[in-house]
Amino acid sequence: MRILVVEDDPDLQRLLAGALRDNGYVVDTAGDGVEGHFLGETEPYDAVILDLGLPEMDGIKVLEKWRKAGRVMPVLILTARDRWSDKVAGLDAGADDYVAKPFFTEEILARVRTLLRRGAGISTSDIEVGPMRIDTRAARVTVQGNPVKLTSLEYRLLSYLAHHKGRVVSRTELVEHLYDQDFDRDSNTIEVFVGRLRKKLGVNLIQTMRGLGYKLEEGAGDADVNAAH
Ligand code: CA
Repeated sequence: MRILVVEDDPDLQRLLAGALRDNGYVVDTAGDGVEGHFLGETEPYDAVILDLGLPEMDGIKVLEKWRKAGRVMPVLILTARDRWSDKVAGLDAGADDYVAKPFFTEEILARVRTLLRRGAGISTSDIEVGPMRIDTRAARVTVQGNPVKLTSLEYRLLSYLAHHKGRVVSRTELVEHLYDQDFDRDSNTIEVFVGRLRKKLGVNLIQTMRGLGYKLEEGAGDADVNAAH
């Protein structure tokens, strides 16, 4: 899952981006409203953390412009502690949730998980697909109760597919959501990672839809056999 953090305070930006990365997300950052707006308009994010007090363009304006342009990604706004009117203005502008400063990083992480789940129609922090269970709080995966050790990229790949289970996800979409904007992206490597993931999981849950992408679902059967035309 790929997250955008728009925060002009460099320490806070570093803290948030670091905590998110430690929890298995890929993160882009922006330090002002114009850059933040540009990234949110041109890159596909699974969630955005948006400070309201920003140089160049304030957070409310950024959010209004995204929503007007039809950008529907979940947005968590950061507000000053005593500014209840900011919360109202932010929610009215299309924010999905807010956290007042100062905050505990754990609260931000929990709210981000909730936003991501809500977007996927999942109501608990554990996602189950057949014998596999993903604990999104701890970024841990088990199959029939046995832990599976994944690299952070493998986890991101699996987590993205799980948040979109039952739907075909193209390689391009995966690349866009697994890497940050600076990464030299190559969609051919996705196939390699899917192969490794299948091997590590030991159960066949990831189906290859030839020419279309991948689908995670219970009882996927033989990969490659159920190719769609
Ligand atoms: Ca600020």
